[in-house]
Order: sequence, then C-alpha cells, then structure tokens
Amino acid sequence: MLNLDTPIQQLNRVGKASAQRLKKLGIENVADLLNYYPFRYEDFSQIIPINKLIPGETATIKGRIELLNNRRSFRKRMIITEAFINDDTGQIKAIWFRQPFITKLIKVGDEVFLSGKVEGDLLENYFSNPLYEKVKTEQTHTARIIPLYPLTEGLSQKQIRFLIKSVIPAVSLIEEWLPQEIIKEESLITLREAISQIHFPDNFQTLATARQRLKFDELFLIQLQSQLIKQELKKSQASGLKFHQEKIKRFVANLPFQLTNAQRKASWEIIQDLEKTKPMNRLLEGDVGSGKTIVAVMAALNVILNNKQVALMAPTEILAKQHYQNICKILKDYPINICLLTNSFVEVIGLRSSVIINKKSKTAQKKEIIKMIESGKIDLIIGTQALIQEKINFKSLELVVIDEQHRFGVEQRKTLREKSGNLQTSPHLLSMTATPIPRSLALTLYGDLDLSVLDEMPKDRKKIITKLVAPPNREKAYDFIKNQINLGHQVFVICPLIEESDKLGVKAATTEFEKLQQEIFPQYKIGLVHGKLKAKDKEKIMKDFSENKLNILVATAVVEVGIDIPNATVMIIEGAERFGLASLHQFRGRIGRGPAQSYCLLFTDSWAEKTQERLKALINCNNGFELAEIDLKLRGAGDLYGLQQSGFLNTLKIASLTDFALIKKTKDQAEKLLANNPHLENLPELQEKLNLFLKNIHPE
Ligand code: ADP
Ligand code: MG
Repeated sequence: MLNLDTPIQQLNRVGKASAQRLKKLGIENVADLLNYYPFRYEDFSQIIPINKLIPGETATIKGRIELLNNRRSFRKRMIITEAFINDDTGQIKAIWFRQPFITKLIKVGDEVFLSGKVEGDLLENYFSNPLYEKVKTEQTHTARIIPLYPLTEGLSQKQIRFLIKSVIPAVSLIEEWLPQEIIKEESLITLREAISQIHFPDNFQTLATARQRLKFDELFLIQLQSQLIKQELKKSQASGLKFHQEKIKRFVANLPFQLTNAQRKASWEIIQDLEKTKPMNRLLEGDVGSGKTIVAVMAALNVILNNKQVALMAPTEILAKQHYQNICKILKDYPINICLLTNSFVEVIGLRSSVIINKKSKTAQKKEIIKMIESGKIDLIIGTQALIQEKINFKSLELVVIDEQHRFGVEQRKTLREKSGNLQTSPHLLSMTATPIPRSLALTLYGDLDLSVLDEMPKDRKKIITKLVAPPNREKAYDFIKNQINLGHQVFVICPLIEESDKLGVKAATTEFEKLQQEIFPQYKIGLVHGKLKAKDKEKIMKDFSENKLNILVATAVVEVGIDIPNATVMIIEGAERFGLASLHQFRGRIGRGPAQSYCLLFTDSWAEKTQERLKALINCNNGFELAEIDLKLRGAGDLYGLQQSGFLNTLKIASLTDFALIKKTKDQAEKLLANNPHLENLPELQEKLNLFLKNIHPE
C-alpha cells in the first residue's frame, strides 16, 4: 500500500541508481514525486489519421504494428529499429536510433500510439524517435497532454512520467489544508484534484484550474507568513539605541569617498529605526555596487557604540570572509573586536583589546571565540546563516544584518530573541539584497518589511561598456581579452547551464575551461569554479583569483562570484540568451569595481527577436531597477528575473511574481483569516503546512 512518505526505493522499478538520481532532484518519497511539477506539456491528445499527417508538425497516431525489426546502420555502428504502422487510412514508418530493446517492449500486431514530430522527405513521411505506447485503458506517454519534467543525467522523461503516474492514486491521501471558506470563496478545486491534474491533465481547461489552485497555495502561504510576522512585530519590543551623532558624523567624514544621497537617506532611516523600541524590520535594496556594505557598517557602528553586539550573516562562507576582510579595513581605526565564524574559517581581530587565541585546533579556537561572544568581548560577529544554528548565546545582540536574504521567518526571529541575551526584546533586523524588486512589487510581496532603496550609484563609477559579440567576431574578442590581460587585468567567464541534466553547470563550465586552457589561452593561468567543488577548493581558487595568480576565472552561474575583484575588467557571458536580465546585470556587477574601464561581452547564438530585445536592454541600461521592469514586461514564462536565487522565492514553483491579481487575492484572504483567527486555531493542517513551508524557505 502506498503512503505519502513511502520511500521511492520501495516503488516498482526504482533501483539504487534511479533512487540516487531522483534524490538529486529532491525526490525521496511519494509526496516528493507528487510535488514535482512538470515544467512544460506536450499536447498529443489529438489522434490524427495517418493520411492526414503533415511534415513538420507534432502529432499522435493510433495504429497496428505491421513490421518491426532491428538492423545495423550503414556504418554498422548503430542499431536502428524500424517499424511500419497501419491505420485505416494508411501506413507510416517509424525509426528509432540506439534503442534495440524496443523490439522487446512492443511486438508486431500490437495496437500502439506513436507521438512525435512528423518528418518528411520527398518520398515519404516518417516518425523519428517517436514516443510509443501500447493502447491501454489510460495512456501515460502518448495520446494525451503529456507532462515534461526537469531531469537529471541518467533519468528519462519516460521513467519519471511512469513513476509519477504510478503514485497518482496516492493523491487520495493528501490532506486539504486550505480553509474550506477560502476554497469556496475563490472557487478553487481541491488539492487532490489539482495535484492529479497538474501531472496528467484531462484537458487544458482542467490544467488551468489546477495551476490556479497551486499558485494560490504558494502565494497564500507567503502572504500568511508576512502577516504573521507583522502581527508578531506589533507585539514585540526592542531596545531603543541612542544615535551617536558626533561619532557617526566623524566616521562618514573620514571615509575615502562621499556618500551618495541614497546612502545618506537609507542610513538615516535605519538609524531612526534603531532608536525606536519596536524591532526594525527593514530591507535595504540596492544594485550591485551601490554601496550597501557601508550603510550596514554605519548602523553596526552605532549599535556597537551603544555597547551592544551585531551579527552579520552572508549567504556563503566566501562572502562572509570577504565581508570580514572589508569591514575590518573600514573599521580599523575603531576599538572594536570583530570575528569571523563559519565552518571553514575561524578568525578574530582585536582592535578593542587583546583577544589572542592560543588554541591550536580549529574546533578549540571556535569554542574560545564562542566564549568571547558570550561574554560580550566580541562586538561584531560575521558568519553565514549557520550562525543561528550554532550553539551561541550572545551577551547583548541588538542588530542582525542579513546579506542576500530577503527576510527572516517567525521561527528564526524567535531563535534570535532567545539567543540575543535579552528575552524581553527582539534584535533589530536589516536585510540587504541586490535583487532589484520594483517598489510596487516589493510592497505587495514583503508586506511586513520597510524598504530603503539605494537607487543611485557612487559618482566615480565608470559605466561598464556592454557589447553583444556576433559569432564571427569571437576571435576579435579573444584578442581583446589578450590585450586586457597583458595590461595586467583579469577576466571572468560565465557559463550557462546547457542541459537540464547538468543542473550545477559542471559539464558546461568544464568544457569551456578546457577549451580556453588548451586551445585559446594556453599561455595564461585559468581557474575553474563550479557548484560541485568543496567550499575549501572554491575558496582557494577565489583567493588565487583575487590575488591575481589567475588571469581568467571560468565560473558557472550557480557559483557565487559575489566576491570583489577590482582588477577584473572583462566579463564574458556565454549563452547570454539563457539568463534573465537581472541575472545578467548581477554578473556584470562583478566588474567595474576598480578605476579601469570595464567591459562585458555577451555571446549568444540566438537571433530570436525577444533575445535581441532583452540583450539590447542590458546594453543600453545600467540600472537594475529599470532592467527588472523591462524583464517584467518581456518576461518569458517562468523567468522570475533572477529572483529564483533568493531562498524565499524558491518556494514559488508555479506562481510568478507577476500574478498581480492573485497576489492581491491571497493577501486579502490571509488578512481576513488572521483577523478572525489570529492564532489559526482549529486549523492544524494549515499550521503544519505553514511550518513545512518555513522549513523550506530556510533549508539550512
Ligand atoms: P554592494 O551594494 O554591491 O554590496 P559594496 O557595499 O560592496 O556594494 O560597495 C562596492 C564598492 O563601492 C566598495 O568598494 C565600496 O567601498 C565602494 N563605495 C561604497 N559607497 C561609495 C561611495 N559613496 N562612493 C564611492 N565608492 C563607494
Ligand atoms: Mg554586497
């Protein structure tokens, strides 16, 4: 008997190898399979008579196999399976390459469906590698709207479709969690119906209602979450922190540059929040390079001047380390103790008093630092978000800065409060993001947050020159790179994910790396970073690059290259058409950080009008917010203009931020529900769902 938590290994035809592959996709049990939505559908529902087939179109036929055999190809290398299929109107040939087992699965005389693209030459029409399936009472792979899923290497559409089909009966075990009134008022279909239709829709109408229901669910949970935070914030207290005006002014005056007006305004908003006895909950949004760090440091300094502690959390260890190094420099004239505390790195710098650690092992050092944090000896603690999980109790934590995460959930706030050293108050929270979310959108989506926007770049920035390089000019571009490297500069090469199966982009980046190292630039030192490397190896390569020991760094898009390398003046983006505008803009923000002119070269093989339009926008526009708006207008389905990266939006599997009407509806419903039932009493399924949702937002 199937259960929702039945492990996939217990399913028919799932061996160790397939289980491993499915695990890569996050699928470990029946529920995971059911919640693994298709990314696209193919409509094979119309059965076409063989004599009505049109070359170039995709179609499904139903017929009887008249002839079926395997033969070796002309060059004797490959086995070709050939079949002739008849219906009442005619006959058509089908060929399959390298799939000799087909003759074991279907036989002459079988009634089958074939679905696929009709190929044709002057003489005849034929199917090449069509999907095939025996006629049954219910079809899975042909003769219907069939689902296509994101895959991983070694897993085929047919396998995963078969598996999901086989667990569909388990939808009857799914509990409804959305309150009945809401389902009724919004005329939604049941969750069971929706899950079953999202995989194997009867028709496009039922598919649409399934999507509507599932989108509603996602957006509703987000809205409920932000309403709950708001509710909680209304109740909680914070320490009001004094504004040390003279000292902060002096700090600003001693900076090697002038703050932009946007930085001034944001700092002022933050300092005012810190003075209040309600916890701050602010999002600082600003383009890459707009100078968010200094704003956060100023806030941190003010808190530390109040003799309180600050924690800064970055999304990766490398970024945490970079923040540490940067901030130590910025604050070097202040009597402040700062530590870096992550899995791989443990460091402490004592500017306030001696904080010498004489322990040898990293674990012992870590212990000692944690003790110093607990005794209040360390003022500023920098780490990854694992800091929350660490067994640290702060002496008096009053400000938490999170880089590149949009907000904290209720649970995390609770944890922070418990660890802060003062149970009566909650620490102030400042989130920072370089993802430019248009203000209107941010307000609907992050209803619980106040917003400060750095919409102005520091004046001394040279505009990055962005160019689209046509394929014939690739050589010229390489010559240009040689010149730049000979001038002592460095180059980033960003590679896209080429195949679904290459989720981490390892293959694409490795191929590019080898090509560059062996054929194009054998004379230069080239590094490669991708998501499969261990943090330590990644760190080593990034370090080498930042110390100019490498001329070129090849990276996948999924690798955080957020590191500051002022000497890098060129960025090459391969397969530029595969990225959303915001992602492209983010990559580009990695260059142009030093005094020299920087260049971003876009390579693409796609001359589709839409691609050209998007890339032109990138060339002409240097403002992340404007690009986000443009992306919003030109948006292809599913392209959430780069927002996918933020943990929070990972939960949007099907809804999109442009479903404005639905966002509004879910917001209203969440507000109404909490107004009537602030503690979600008698709604245990909803509470459970919400907890699960929170866990998924913050998987660490
Ligand atoms: P981001 O917003 O991407 O986090 P950073 O805070 O890392 O940007 O700032 C990028 C660089 O710009 C840093 O080297 C920083 O010192 C510098 N910077 C910040 N503010 C200004 C300013 N007002 N004028 C000139 N340079 C600035
Ligand atoms: Mg930053």
